[in-house]
Amino acid sequence: MTLFCRNGRSDSLTVEGRVIDPTEGIDECLALTVDNGVIVRIEPSGSSRTVVAPAFVDPHVHLRTPGREDEETIASGTAAAAAGGYCAILAMPNTDPVVDSAAVLGSLVERATEEALVPTGFLAAISKGQHGEQLTEMVELAEAGAAAFTDDGRPVVSAGLMRRALQYAGVAARPLSLHEEEPSLSRDGQMHEGAVSAELGLAGWPSVAEAAMVERDVTLAAYERRALHIMHVSALESVRAIQTAQSRGVGVTAEVTPHHLCLTDDAVRSLDPNTKMNPPVRSDEHRAALVEALRGGAIACIATDHAPHARQEKDAPFEEAPFGVTGLETAFSALYTRLVEPGVIPLETILERMSAGPARVFGLPVPRIAIGERANLVVLDLDAEWTVDEGGFRSRSVNSWLLGARLRGKVTRTVADGREVYAA
Ligand SMILES: [Zn+2]
Ligand SMILES: [Zn+2]
Repeated sequence: MTLFCRNGRSDSLTVEGRVIDPTEGIDECLALTVDNGVIVRIEPSGSSRTVVAPAFVDPHVHLRTPGREDEETIASGTAAAAAGGYCAILAMPNTDPVVDSAAVLGSLVERATEEALVPTGFLAAISKGQHGEQLTEMVELAEAGAAAFTDDGRPVVSAGLMRRALQYAGVAARPLSLHEEEPSLSRDGQMHEGAVSAELGLAGWPSVAEAAMVERDVTLAAYERRALHIMHVSALESVRAIQTAQSRGVGVTAEVTPHHLCLTDDAVRSLDPNTKMNPPVRSDEHRAALVEALRGGAIACIATDHAPHARQEKDAPFEEAPFGVTGLETAFSALYTRLVEPGVIPLETILERMSAGPARVFGLPVPRIAIGERANLVVLDLDAEWTVDEGGFRSRSVNSWLLGARLRGKVTRTVADGREVYAA
């Protein structure tokens, strides 16, 4: 078992609307009856006021626990996830201390069984202390409940260590999630290297710093015949490397964030620290390549990389501000407003890449709308208009790239593992 949650009731409820489940091939107006947490009846309905879909799965969340509970806790982060329509999330191990031992992981699992509103899994580190030198005890960590392994926040710089990580992840039967960055190329980079960085006089983090590592790691994965997952893809060249590897049968999967799908480096002209992320948002040709790869399926998952930061740290001059933005509570609305409404990506593709896509990559139960399944449902009001406002967040942090934005489409209800965890 790799997902952990506060023990709670199983609810009985009904949900109706236009039901869209890309996995089950459903797109029709239906009423669903949930009894004791399980979908027991599906009948025709006249209501099409809302969309009902399998709830979302986020494979990349920073819960900042242990160590920075002022920025996020398991309770606040999972409340934010519930408000964003998620029924499962995976948390990153770059905490203080790092999740690199069964003891640290065990205490997180214990906290999740007391505090987590939605089922939560924990990734453990690839290297001890995330120092990139010594592998963690991956088999032992898998037995203690690690959902996958990553050194996120940092790349695995040593190719030799990466090769052994691929071998041990195979033995531990858990995915490897990789933050791809060649640090000698990205060093001191503040934003995408290109015309805008030159104009602003900010140090560049070039796309090749990501692509060079992606190329290295897919080459290693092919050689070792192991799978790997590339996190937060940002560059056109990385997309090409992933597609080439996939066409050769290498088990490489990838995720992309809402901000990389929606923003370009033009946004950095504002010098708003909430446009500063790692990897950076890039020029429109990179953004367009990510959208295309998501639509075509080479990128199977949307991940928020929800990265809460304390106000006093993020409210700094651009060059001093930390990297990262929050995303759980705005992901669907941002993608609906910026990509679905303008006709760039079909709604069912977004729904699939936010739910079944990531669940499959991480071996989690795929949320499905079918009789006998535990209810994992999100209800969406596509006509709702709202303004992203600091006061509206359940997250402890407010460093959203969308503050003040007017969005269309809103999550109005979330059912996770048979329990209603959010109702607007
Ligand atoms: Zn990362
Ligand atoms: Zn991250």
